[in-house]
Order: sequence, then structure tokens, then C-alpha cells
Amino acid sequence: MDRSLQLKQNFTAIETAIEAACQSTNRPFCEVNLMAVTKYAADEDVRTLLDNTPIRHIGESRVQQALARWQRPDFAKYPVQKHFIGHLQKNKAAQAARFFDFIDSIDNLQIAQLLSEHAHKLNKTLRVMVQIKLTDRETQSGISLALAPTLVKELQKLPYLRPCGYMAIAPQTTNGNELRPIFKQIRLAFERDFATQQERYLSLGMSNDFEAAVAEGATLPRVGSKLFA
Ligand SMILES: *Cc1c(COP(=O)(O)O)cnc(C)c1O
Repeated sequence: MDRSLQLKQNFTAIETAIEAACQSTNRPFCEVNLMAVTKYAADEDVRTLLDNTPIRHIGESRVQQALARWQRPDFAKYPVQKHFIGHLQKNKAAQAARFFDFIDSIDNLQIAQLLSEHAHKLNKTLRVMVQIKLTDRETQSGISLALAPTLVKELQKLPYLRPCGYMAIAPQTTNGNELRPIFKQIRLAFERDFATQQERYLSLGMSNDFEAAVAEGATLPRVGSKLFA
């Protein structure tokens, strides 16, 4: 099959599944924005997707790789909000603050303070999200759901950051239904902690679990492999 047609079909299939998940829980489909996670995708595929779909959010998890791609004229022309969704190292904070519209993986105050200082120098308000950790794995980034509201309050005091939601990576499981109570807990915390926020996002769900996440209230599911299959 023609590659462009394949990518359009992937997108349509995901959007259709999102719409069905919204209907199943009486949510408005229009409040869900699909984030295209482009970290593993070929340049050509990313351009084809953006040329043919209304996608307005992209996610990258490596600073260097993202800069190399999205600063080139053939990528810079796309009006997409760029999200950093990986683990941010301190020595990459300056570049990340300059380049990205959103840093979605904040899990400690130190990195947030550093980003705020860089955003100040750039005269920019950087939108950030707090990453919640859902597993006990040492290597997994994120802060516990119990500690997240305190971190949000601290972030709200930083003048050049605007905290605007929660992001989480669900534990690996084959059954999305098992994840629904977990997603729901995060959604309840999101509604409580970002109640007065104008612009807010709940970034839950990936290729294997976005339907369960959307059914439980995700507004910014992050899909990579299914989109670029
Ligand atoms: C890679 C990645 C995704 C996309 O994962 P897929 O399973 O390929 O859809 C989503 N979120 C984060 C944080 C990622 O690193």
C-alpha cells in the first residue's frame, strides 16, 4: 500500500477508536487531542503525517534528536506544539527550555527551578506537566501521586513556568481494563489540582492503552508505534 495512505489510515483508525472511547463514557470527542510521538519515526513519515492530518501536538524524548529534526526548515514550518516527554538531564535544560513549548516530564523541583531560570533569560513562559510514577521500578521517572499536588503548588510559584497537567506512563499490561482504575485516580487528581486552570492537559495513554485512558478522561494521549506502523 502507498505509505501516505497507510499513515492516513493509521490516524483515522486511532481517531475512530478515540471517538468510540469518548462515546462509551459520554465525553466530548473534541476535548481529546492526539499527540504524535515521533521519536522513532522516519522524517519522511512525520512530514507525510503532518501534511495529511490535523495533528497539532508532537512528542520527542531526546533533546538532541528533536533539535536536529525540528529546527530544519522542512520541519520548522509545521505549526505544532512540541512536547518533551523523556527524562530531562540538567545539562540539557537550557536547550530544552529554548526549543520546546512543553516539558511534560517534570518530577522534581530542582529541574523545574532550572527550567524557570532558563525560561526567564529567554523571556518565555514554559508550559510544564508533572509526570506521575505508576510503577516501583527504580529506572522509571516520575513522582508518586501522593506527592504530586505539593510539587504542582511549588511549580505554580515559579514565575516563568506554567504547570498545566499530569502525564503518566502506565505499567505494561495486555489488558487495558486493568488500567482504568489507575487512570481514573490520576484524572480525579487532575481535576482537583488543575481545577482553575484555563489551559490544561491530562496526558495518559500510549499505543497499547490509549482507549482505556481516553475512556477515563485523558485529553492528550501519546501515540507512536500505532501511528507510524
Ligand atoms: C515512546 C513514548 C510514547 C509512545 O509509545 P508507543 O507505545 O509507541 O505509542 C508515549 N509516551 C512516552 C513518554 C514515550 O516515551
